[in-house]
Amino acid sequence: MTKLLSAATANLRGKVKGRVVLPDDPNYEEVRKIWNAMIDRRPAVIVRCAKADDVPHAIRLARQNGLEISIRGAGHNIAGNALCEGGMMIDLSTMKNVRVDAAKRRAYVEPGATLADFDKAVQEHGLATPVGINSTTGISGLTLGGGFGWLTRKYGMTIDNLLSAEVITADGKKLRASEKENVDLFWAIRGGGGNFGVVTQFEFKLHPVGPEILAGLIVFPLDQAKQVLRQYREFVKSAPEELSVWVVLRQAPPLPFLPKEVHGREVVVLAIFYTGDIAEGAKLIAPLHRFGDAHGEHIGAQPYVQWQKAFDPLLTPGARNYWKSHNFTELRDEALDTMIGFANRLPSPQCEIFIALIAGAANRVPADAMAYGHRDAKFVLNVHTRWDEAAQDETCIAWARAFFKASAPYASAGAYVNFMTEDESDRVAAAYGANYARLAHIKRHYDPENVFHLNQNIKP
Ligand SMILES: Cc1cc2nc3c(=O)[nH]c(=O)nc-3n(C[C@H](O)[C@H](O)[C@H](O)COP(=O)(O)OP(=O)(O)OC[C@H]3O[C@@H](n4cnc5c(N)ncnc54)[C@H](O)[C@@H]3O)c2cc1C
Repeated sequence: MTKLLSAATANLRGKVKGRVVLPDDPNYEEVRKIWNAMIDRRPAVIVRCAKADDVPHAIRLARQNGLEISIRGAGHNIAGNALCEGGMMIDLSTMKNVRVDAAKRRAYVEPGATLADFDKAVQEHGLATPVGINSTTGISGLTLGGGFGWLTRKYGMTIDNLLSAEVITADGKKLRASEKENVDLFWAIRGGGGNFGVVTQFEFKLHPVGPEILAGLIVFPLDQAKQVLRQYREFVKSAPEELSVWVVLRQAPPLPFLPKEVHGREVVVLAIFYTGDIAEGAKLIAPLHRFGDAHGEHIGAQPYVQWQKAFDPLLTPGARNYWKSHNFTELRDEALDTMIGFANRLPSPQCEIFIALIAGAANRVPADAMAYGHRDAKFVLNVHTRWDEAAQDETCIAWARAFFKASAPYASAGAYVNFMTEDESDRVAAAYGANYARLAHIKRHYDPENVFHLNQNIKP
C-alpha cells in the first residue's frame, strides 16, 4: 500500500465507527469472502460500516485516492460485484438492524440485513413482505434489483413494497428517496441496482402473513416431467394469488421422505406455498397430487420463517456458481422440452433448473412505474449451475450457456439483473429495455463520473 493510502486509512479509522480492514488484518480473508466461490478478489481497503454516517467518509477516501468502489450488502450476488480488486469495498454486512412499527405495518431495515434477519423481525408481529427464497440472501441487493419470492403473486415484487430509502450519493450527500422526495432517484433505485448511491436504510410496507402457512414439496420422476409440467401450466392459470407453485428440475437430494433409491435420481419437484386458511389450501392443491405417480411428498402447515429457510441447505455459500436466467410470459411446449432435455444431462449433482411463478400483483404495475420493467413476466427461469471443483468449470459453464441459448427463443424480452453473471454486462441495456434511457439520464444527475460502476452498470 502507498504511504499516502496508509495515512488516509489511518485518518479514516479516526472518523468511522466501523472497522477498517486491510490485507494484513487477521480477519481480512474471512471478511472478503462472498457467496459465490468463483469470485476471488482482493480489495486494498474494506470499510465495515457501523453507521450510515461512515459511508460518506469511505466514499471520500476512495475518491481522493482513485480507488474503485464496490458495495456489499450480504455478498450474495452471483456476479460478485460486491468484491473489487485493489479498490475499496464498502461493506454494509454488519449493519443488520430491522425496526418494525407493527401498528403502521412498516419495517425500517439496515442494508446488511439478510432475509433471515428481516423475516424473523417482522414475523414476531405476524407480518411480512415479499422477499427471496434463500434466507442468507441480502435484503439490499435483492431489493435494488427487484426482488421476488413466495409472496410475490399476492403482494408484488419487493420493490412494489418499498416506501422510501435513505441514499448516500457519490458526492457524500444523504438523501431520502420516496414518492414525495427525490422522486427520480426513488424511481431509479427500484430495479436500478447499486448505480445511484449507497442505500443505508429501506422502509417497507408489511402485510399480515402466517405465522403458519401451508407449504411443501411433491417429487415426481423426471420421465413424467412433460405431463407434470403441462398440467402445472394449466393449473397455475386459474390458481388464486395466495397460492404459489414453483418447479425445480434436479437430482433428488437425500430428503427423508424419499425412498433411498430415489436419492441422486433426476426428478421434477413442485414446491408449494399457500398463504391463507390451511384447510382451504389443502383443498386447492389436491389436483397437484394427481399430476403423476410421485416418488414422495412432504406438505403441511409450518411457520413461514421455517419455509423461508427450506432451500438453504441446497444453496449454501462456498460453492462455484454460474447462473443464467430468462423471463417467460408463457411456458410453450418447446420451452418445456428444452428444460427437460437439459435436466436429463445435468453436469453436476448440485445443478438445478428453477421455474419461479410470479404471475399476479407484479403484472398489474405499469412497466414504466419504476426502473424494473418486466411487468409481463409470469415465470422466471433460473439455471442454478453449481459445483465444487475448479476442474469442472468449463463443463458446467458450457452446459449453462447451451441451455440459456436453447431456451432463448421461447423467453420474453429483458432479463432480471439480480441473476446476471459477471460476463453479461452487454445485456444490461436490454435488461432494462425502454426504461434504460431514463435510468442513464438519472445516473448522469446523481453519479456523472460513474463512481458506482462495479454493478450491472448503467452508463451516465
Ligand atoms: C442462493 C440465492 C438465492 C436467491 N434467491 C432469490 C430469490 O428468491 N428472489 C430474488 O429476487 N433474488 C434471489 N437471488 C438473487 C439476489 O437477489 C441477488 O443476488 C442480490 O444481489 C443479493 O443481494 P446481496 O445484498 O446479498 O448481494 P451483494 O452481492 O452484497 O450486492 C449485490 C450488488 O448490489 C449492490 N448493492 C448491495 N447493497 C447495496 C446498498 N446498500 N446500496 C447500494 N448498492 C448495493 C451492489 O452493486 C452489489 O454489488 C438469489 C441469490 C442467491 C445467490
